Amino acid sequence: MKLVFATHNKNKFLEVQTMMPPDIDLLSLSDIDCNEDIAETETTIEGNAILKATYVKEHYGYDCFADDTGLEVNSLNNEPGVYSARYAGPDNNANANIQKLLLNLSEKENRAARFKTAISLVFEGKKALFLGICEGEIVEEQKGIGGFGYDPVFKPNGYKTTFAEMSLDQKSEIGHRGRAMRQLIDYLSKR
Ligand code: IMP
Repeated sequence: MKLVFATHNKNKFLEVQTMMPPDIDLLSLSDIDCNEDIAETETTIEGNAILKATYVKEHYGYDCFADDTGLEVNSLNNEPGVYSARYAGPDNNANANIQKLLLNLSEKENRAARFKTAISLVFEGKKALFLGICEGEIVEEQKGIGGFGYDPVFKPNGYKTTFAEMSLDQKSEIGHRGRAMRQLIDYLSKR
């Protein structure tokens, strides 16, 4: 069965592909010749995930799912949240985003934060939404070279290492996207 994962992010695609059951032929946006950037114009991560999945179904005809992720930091009024990609400017520069986050947290005692992923599925004429949350904290300095985005500064609760110091499998097991993905896979397996 062919299913599109509506992302241009190769790291995300790899994370998700390693979790997919073998009977699902996972396609990326470039596999279906979708080279456009689908603008994330909604004000919630759920809204953006639904927008992307619906857009791909309507314009390219494939059953598909899309994810949107936000990092919520308690002492920053849950910022950057839905604006996580553009926190330091429109070009989605991970290093600049991290620098801004560390600067904004430099005077704060409370560094608690969470990743939230919403996955929207458009499949066999039905829509479904799955949410995955991972609680943790923002460390004071970047650690590790794996992963992407804010991974070098996010340490999940109960662990001594950041996401960027973990293997893909370990991040998927405890992380926000893995949690949402397992619900999606469970849904697909019951089809
Ligand atoms: P989006 O879901 O691709 O819109 O991601 C929003 C922002 O969060 C981007 O800056 C991503 O790099 C970042 N992000 C998304 N997922 C993760 C993750 O699993 N770890 C770290 N950063 C992430």
